[in-house]
Amino acid sequence: MAGIVVVFDFDKTIIECDSDDLVVHELGATQLFNQLLPTMSWNTLMDRIMGEIHSQGKTTEDIAECLKRAPLHPRIIAAIKSAHALGCDLRIISDANMFFIETILKQYGLIDYFSEINTNPSLIDEEGKVRILPYHDSTSSPHGCSRCPSTMCKGLVIERIQAHASTEGKKRIIYLGDGRGDFCPSLKLGEGDCMMPRKNFPVWELIRCNPMLMKAEVHEWSDGEELERVLLHLINMISIEENSSSNCTQLISVDCKFETIPVSTHENSIPRPPQLLAVAKN
Ligand SMILES: [Mg+2]
Ligand SMILES: [Zn+2]
Repeated sequence: MAGIVVVFDFDKTIIECDSDDLVVHELGATQLFNQLLPTMSWNTLMDRIMGEIHSQGKTTEDIAECLKRAPLHPRIIAAIKSAHALGCDLRIISDANMFFIETILKQYGLIDYFSEINTNPSLIDEEGKVRILPYHDSTSSPHGCSRCPSTMCKGLVIERIQAHASTEGKKRIIYLGDGRGDFCPSLKLGEGDCMMPRKNFPVWELIRCNPMLMKAEVHEWSDGEELERVLLHLINMISIEENSSSNCTQLISVDCKFETIPVSTHENSIPRPPQLLAVAKN
């Protein structure tokens, strides 16, 4: 069973907080951050803050120690491990950065469960300073999407994952996210895909206000327990559908010489109302 790609946002989806906020707050840079925010993009500002933190004598280890305290719900850890054990291909698309995400995932022993992390690149320069670079360079290769911040259009990343997945025969995507930046990729999802927006967060609100733009099924979640329950339920449902589909294909190939091709009825077995679906609590 490897027909499902599960794509996670990172901040406020996998971890409970925002990793940028955590570092800025814990390392005492909140005032400077708020002062500079009106003058530069978020990504440039985080790079600048890393420079300020370094000039105050704080090391990459100090930043890493702070990141390791990022809260991650135990049921989300379990959900990631279960989805992986069920054969799903797990990926991350995040507008945070590689240093932050890798540090946290390693702390929780989760890094090897993900086949790909799409995020803003980072490096530690010769002075030992963390540098954060944009995923898309807005001057040399702007992504041109008006819905997304200049650093990253998650919709473009989803399109690349879709193109690659179809060559490998992986057809179904489940996307989990909370923020405004998760709206663009949710619009790229097709019928048969699932969007899992975090209830009462910006992407949930955007979907609620624009239900007709969505082709994917929408299944909301609120916390780690609900994320686990909904995600594993969807993986199960898709697996059952895919199995009955492949059995049906076999049936067709056996039966077609008699020219009595059975018509599959499973395709409509999952309802697709335009409104948000609340998964039944079991
Ligand atoms: Mg997020
Ligand atoms: Zn976009």
